[in-house]
Amino acid sequence: MEYHIQKRILITGGAGFLGSHLCDRLVAKEHDVICLDNFFTGNKKNISHLLGKPNFELIRHDLAQPIFLEVDEIYNLACPASPVHYQYNPVKTVKTCIMGSIHILGLAKRVKAKILQASTSEIYGNPTVHPQKEDYWGNVNTIGPRSCYDEGKRCAETLFFDYHRQNRVNIRVVRIFNTYGPRMHPNDGRVVSSFIVQALTNQDITVFGDGSQSRSFCYVDDMIEGIIRMMDASDDFIGPVNLGNPHEFTILDLAKKIIEMTNSKSNIVYNPLPQDDPLQRKPDINLAKEKLKWQPVIELEEGLVKTVEYFEKIFARGK
Ligand code: NAD
Ligand code: UDP
Repeated sequence: MEYHIQKRILITGGAGFLGSHLCDRLVAKEHDVICLDNFFTGNKKNISHLLGKPNFELIRHDLAQPIFLEVDEIYNLACPASPVHYQYNPVKTVKTCIMGSIHILGLAKRVKAKILQASTSEIYGNPTVHPQKEDYWGNVNTIGPRSCYDEGKRCAETLFFDYHRQNRVNIRVVRIFNTYGPRMHPNDGRVVSSFIVQALTNQDITVFGDGSQSRSFCYVDDMIEGIIRMMDASDDFIGPVNLGNPHEFTILDLAKKIIEMTNSKSNIVYNPLPQDDPLQRKPDINLAKEKLKWQPVIELEEGLVKTVEYFEKIFARGK
């Protein structure tokens, strides 16, 4: 029989896309879960089914302000993730990344909690190395429209490692590559949600540039499994570790696939490529395979079917 110790776990950004799936998994494992969110991009609907459970609590709080709680583990996910949302108020994005990290690391230090940072493939910028390995330092513009997020997340990694070296905080850092699935915000401008919404409503599919830029898409269930494995990894493996699906697609391929799957009448239109949009992205996940015994098991078509079903349902409810 498995011996199970219930932990008190804080998830910042817990009402967002990834955070709400993490809440589901950890509540199901019978941990005592505290979800903290300022609802900038998160939504109460994502976690409403958990309200009322004895091992789930919700706190409305902005991580740019300090908070005091007694917890054993912290997953730090608070930060808008889509370019549209993180560029809406770039100064706030930097504050969330940096002041948020300082506040949450200070808390981890005081209560001796283990803390995991949701970092990102964006720290590699527009990569000159392909696929990206953890020892690649990146190619990032410090002053462009994506910099608030890219540099905010880079500095957050620095803070995590400095708190670890200076204050012995028990950290974990995961670099998340493009992840998709149910509960993505329908208007967040990210490519998978945008194309599905456009296809289901027979609007034009907006491919930026010529669509030859690539991304590698990971289904949310695979990602959550990887994140939890990293939190549970032994203390001599703190990362950073890439988590993502190494199967690479062009954005044009993705558009065609979604049109076909949804039997959509949408046409593809080509809009200008946004500034500093990375031309290629694909994780090298050998480290995660070796250290976490983790690799994605859900391929794009299967994950897209589940995601399309989700958006069909929320549109049907809205009618
Ligand atoms: P999301 O926007 O759905 O979730 C982020 C959550 O953080 C939202 O609920 C939002 O309201 C909350 N939040 C934002 N600022 C806050 C603040 N100052 N205080 C408290 N809460 C705040 O995005 P997501 O896709 O779920 O991403 C979660 C985390 O994973 C983010 O840190 C993101 O950078 C990282 N990440 C995600 C991806 C991806 O493809 N989904 C890729 C790389 C990294
Ligand atoms: N993209 C696109 N049309 C859209 C939204 C995004 O062609 O309506 C492209 C975007 O230019 C980028 C890729 O899809 O090359 C992924 O964009 P997303 O915003 O999802 O994530 P990120 O750029 O952060 O990887």
